[in-house]
Amino acid sequence: MQGLQTASDKHVTQRRSILEKLLRALFGLWADFDRWDDEDVVAGMAARSATLVNSAVAEVRRTQRSYLGSVLNGFGIDTSQLPSVIESYPRANTFTSQVYSRPVEQFIWARRNGGTLAESREAFEQRLREIAQADMLVAEREESQRVYAASPRVIGHRRIIHPEKSESGFSCGLCVVAATRIYSTSELQAIHGGCNCDSAPVTAESDPGLSLNENDLKEFYNAAGSTAAEDLINTRVRYVEHGELGPILVKQGDHFRTPEEAGRPKWEPSTPESRRAATLAELDDLTAKIASAQQRYDDMVATRPETLTPNSPLSDERVALFRSLNYMRELAAALNVRLTRE
Ligand SMILES: [Zn+2]
Repeated sequence: MQGLQTASDKHVTQRRSILEKLLRALFGLWADFDRWDDEDVVAGMAARSATLVNSAVAEVRRTQRSYLGSVLNGFGIDTSQLPSVIESYPRANTFTSQVYSRPVEQFIWARRNGGTLAESREAFEQRLREIAQADMLVAEREESQRVYAASPRVIGHRRIIHPEKSESGFSCGLCVVAATRIYSTSELQAIHGGCNCDSAPVTAESDPGLSLNENDLKEFYNAAGSTAAEDLINTRVRYVEHGELGPILVKQGDHFRTPEEAGRPKWEPSTPESRRAATLAELDDLTAKIASAQQRYDDMVATRPETLTPNSPLSDERVALFRSLNYMRELAAALNVRLTRE
């Protein structure tokens, strides 16, 4: 059990640091951005964001694999025959560069509704943070599911709560309730925004996550006092299915729009075919966007040669467009490589 505790603490810290590194890179990329209405430039920025996210997703998947590998080895389970780590973006029914243009819509929406520049920027950053955090969690969870499903001695899995990882209060109140259940190997652990939970396998002989959670809860209740403890115990959770993220946890009574209600496709677990289809859809989308941005660039240079004067205010638009084209081509090249591997 001590082994699982140490491994999970380390793993959750690693996850946090991958997310923080990604957020620093994303916030740095968008730091001076001011071409919110320029679709071609936004598409390029979303593509560059996608490239950064894809590399963080890959790191999260590898980290998850090594965490579970060490836990399973601790159970005496052989992990040499596991399927290879997949590369794809973990959300269903969409693709990375589409998702990472959403914070821009958030900014525009806030601006149109009377938000100041600073408030709209804050709304942008908030959305970006939420999206990136959810992406890390779903990538990790997909990887766990693949590992559990390929390990015959694993009969299920359990969430491991980490109250000590919450910055203020305890963001995983819902998870305390959810941590009492064992998920089957074909089920995915439900997540929620700001979730700090980890996952641990359960075998017929061993379920060390159970006592780990009990210890963590005891400590948390001692620190938080009886009112907080009662609040948590009285929380009722509901499992719902988000069209992109799959199973998520919501508080009983909280509003949730199902994909059907929103007129969107239902979530399905990814398959080699669906992953390939998503990569192809993103490539198609990028190809069209690159063609139209390139056309605009060529027209600009032909009809407004003054935009070619270096460091002039007139050249800003051209430079932003040029950079966007590079970002989109960079992502397209990486997706083409992925297609040859998956
Ligand atoms: Zn949680």
